Amino acid sequence: MSPTALELAAAVRTAERSARDAVAASIEAIAAGDGAIHAFVEVLADRALARAEQIDAAVAAGSDPGPLAGVPVALKDNLCTRGVPTTCASRILGTWCPPYDATVVERLERAGAVVVGKTNMDEFAMGSSTENSCFGPTRNPRDHARVPGGSSGGSAAAVAAGFVPLALGSDTGGSIRQPAAFCGVVGVKPTYGLVSRYGLVAFASSLDQIGPFAATVADAAAALAAIAGHDERDSTSLSDPVPELAAAVGRGVLGRRIGVVKELVDGVDRPVAARAREAAEAMAAAGATVEEVSIPQLRYGLAAYYLLAPAEASSNLARFDGVRYGLRVDAPDASAMNVATRTEGFGAEVKRRIMLGTYALSAGYYDAYYARAQRVRTLVAQGFGRAFATFDALLGATTPTTAFALAERTENPLAMYLSDTCTVPASLAGIPAISVPFGADPAGLPVGVQVMAPALGESTLFAVAGALERAAPPERRP
Ligand code: GLN
Repeated sequence: MSPTALELAAAVRTAERSARDAVAASIEAIAAGDGAIHAFVEVLADRALARAEQIDAAVAAGSDPGPLAGVPVALKDNLCTRGVPTTCASRILGTWCPPYDATVVERLERAGAVVVGKTNMDEFAMGSSTENSCFGPTRNPRDHARVPGGSSGGSAAAVAAGFVPLALGSDTGGSIRQPAAFCGVVGVKPTYGLVSRYGLVAFASSLDQIGPFAATVADAAAALAAIAGHDERDSTSLSDPVPELAAAVGRGVLGRRIGVVKELVDGVDRPVAARAREAAEAMAAAGATVEEVSIPQLRYGLAAYYLLAPAEASSNLARFDGVRYGLRVDAPDASAMNVATRTEGFGAEVKRRIMLGTYALSAGYYDAYYARAQRVRTLVAQGFGRAFATFDALLGATTPTTAFALAERTENPLAMYLSDTCTVPASLAGIPAISVPFGADPAGLPVGVQVMAPALGESTLFAVAGALERAAPPERRP
């Protein structure tokens, strides 16, 4: 068992283990194992070792290197890193290097964490399998014939393979929670606005949130604590105090009211539904009041999401024009250059989203599609609101199935989109959600159970997640 992030940081802070040694071990593990997984698109060995040495020097000098001292972290490649390529797994960004760090990168480094590399993803975070990458797919460390989920599949796989104890991803409609479930790790989508999006390449700005992957709930809480909190550089960043996180993990669920969401259990594959029901029983055994609740509006979440997210994406991706970033394919005039660059630079799924989104926003269709989807979004939020009048937290499956095979869904976008049914509702409502590993299917593939809480209810979220982790059946590896 590799040490957790918190164990590692404690050892580094007391000089029991050097940060250099911890970072070198991570880089060696990547070198030895990532050929088969392809979690990383770039490994920053020299930079990471130099940074680790600075942390060791700080420890030797008696200064505090921070709560994540010497912890190797991996970053999804849509998070800006100064002077280091940030590709979004797209040809259109080429070798573009941002001139600044994302706020989350600054904050992780301030907490003592060491960035060891950038991870593979679906192009511009559009996808559920990490197969829409210009670098080729990532494989699920638990079964190399299967996808790790997506779009943050590289970050989930990097943690599941034991390459790093912590990684960051982004979640617009499930891209942290779904790969976490598929790979058997913890993944958190915070309340919209709790974590700054400054330096996250935008997909659908009203939905995008950055969050952590970790092997344990306590590590995920520590990572979220490091990156959360107001940032004046993101106008949607909340100014509320950050909820209590680390202390919540061990709090338990005695007296908590937990609703098991019918729509997130019925209709999912049988082994997944069975684990979700066992998780609910375990919470009742741990002292919570557990009841079933129906939120019928959730059934329309997926349809609304696949209008709203492409609509926002079509606008956000207009900036990739061959002038400002990365790739340019020359042509006789500016407009032809623009067309040639975008034709060459974007992959098939990104083009599909741009077309769907442009259509949904066009005159004559705006009211029928975009405006209507916005009203459905409000109904989904109201449905949650009603449930939270009775329950402190909600529980359901994270995904309708366990990890599917590579290439199984690439020819069928609709089948791919359906893997997001359980995760998009929390995204539409802006509420926090976490996926916690809870047992396996008969093939030994991990199952994730999802917990949701009201906006800024991360303390409750982590209390329930911690209780689930303690109650989870022992691992059965394939
Ligand atoms: N799979 C979803 C999509 O393709 C969600 C992606 C995400 O959360 N970034 O849009």
